[in-house]
Amino acid sequence: MAGSSEKASKRRALIVGGSMSGLLAALLLRRAGWDVDVFERVESELAGRGAGIVAQPDLIETLRRLGIDPTALGVEITTRKILDASGRLVGQFDCPQVLTAWERVYRVLRDAFPRERYHRGRGVSGFVQTENSVVAHFGDGDAAEAELLVGADGLRSTIRQQCLPELAPLYVGYVAWRALIPEAAFAPAIHRELFNYMTFCLPPGEQCLGYPVAGPDNDLRPGHRRYNVVWYRPADENGELQHLLTDAGGTTHTISIPPPLIRREAIAQMRARSTISKRRAWRSAGSR
Ligand SMILES: Cc1cc2nc3c(=O)[nH]c(=O)nc-3n(C[C@H](O)[C@H](O)[C@H](O)COP(=O)(O)OP(=O)(O)OC[C@H]3O[C@@H](n4cnc5c(N)ncnc54)[C@H](O)[C@@H]3O)c2cc1C
Repeated sequence: MAGSSEKASKRRALIVGGSMSGLLAALLLRRAGWDVDVFERVESELAGRGAGIVAQPDLIETLRRLGIDPTALGVEITTRKILDASGRLVGQFDCPQVLTAWERVYRVLRDAFPRERYHRGRGVSGFVQTENSVVAHFGDGDAAEAELLVGADGLRSTIRQQCLPELAPLYVGYVAWRALIPEAAFAPAIHRELFNYMTFCLPPGEQCLGYPVAGPDNDLRPGHRRYNVVWYRPADENGELQHLLTDAGGTTHTISIPPPLIRREAIAQMRARSTISKRRAWRSAGSR
């Protein structure tokens, strides 16, 4: 047993990508006795890749397996609510959950992995498979050899592109508008009805959901938290999608656009549409 774990500890793994998947793979491999290095293309510390995340039981269980305390990950809720497009409550059921944030999970994983084995600003440009090993090549001309290479390099993965060049991401036909609202900005009546719940609103062909998350610096004190809102809406790939991804300077971004660059006109249109949907729902509820 001791012999096999000694042998296992000599095996080396290279992880390409130092975000959620990369860190989880790295920590699990280390725990299994591997010698692991993570290579992340981005030079600075990763941040701001999303807002709220539901801490699913799998994540909590994996953190426990890694010896990481999953408590204080975020805000605990007990109930889900369903609203119609006019905001009227049409359903409610028990569903205890912990709601956390991308930054929080990333920080917990990053802190659990040795700093000296996490290499920032190291982009992998490709790999070569040999009979007994794999060699990763970096953009700066450097190379590293190991028994295992894990491609955890995201949606536009260089590693997947090399293994499966015929695969490309497909647009699913909708965009997500995302927002974080400070708890203090809620009017008391809305706070009572909404804040402590995961709430879904389901207009035809769309989905809007919201739930409480920690405030800045993982602040979990009542009054200092935030409400995470995501509104999924259809957008034609060659029309509205391009329009939404184009900033005031005329640059069209891929996949997502940083919030400060979204054109005011696009925000105004989104707000107008939400009001129109609500008015329509009120009218049809009134005619029933
Ligand atoms: C704008 C946006 C908002 C999101 N909001 C949410 C949210 O609110 N809640 C939620 O649950 N999820 C959200 N997501 C999805 C979430 O980001 C992903 O589920 C999660 O980050 C996936 O983790 P990952 O490690 O697989 O990939 P990624 O987070 O994409 O990480 C891949 C990493 O690999 C690095 N990399 C890429 N190529 C190379 C290379 N060649 N060499 C070395 N490193 C490389 C990248 O720099 C990156 O750090 C959002 C995604 C986006 C784009």
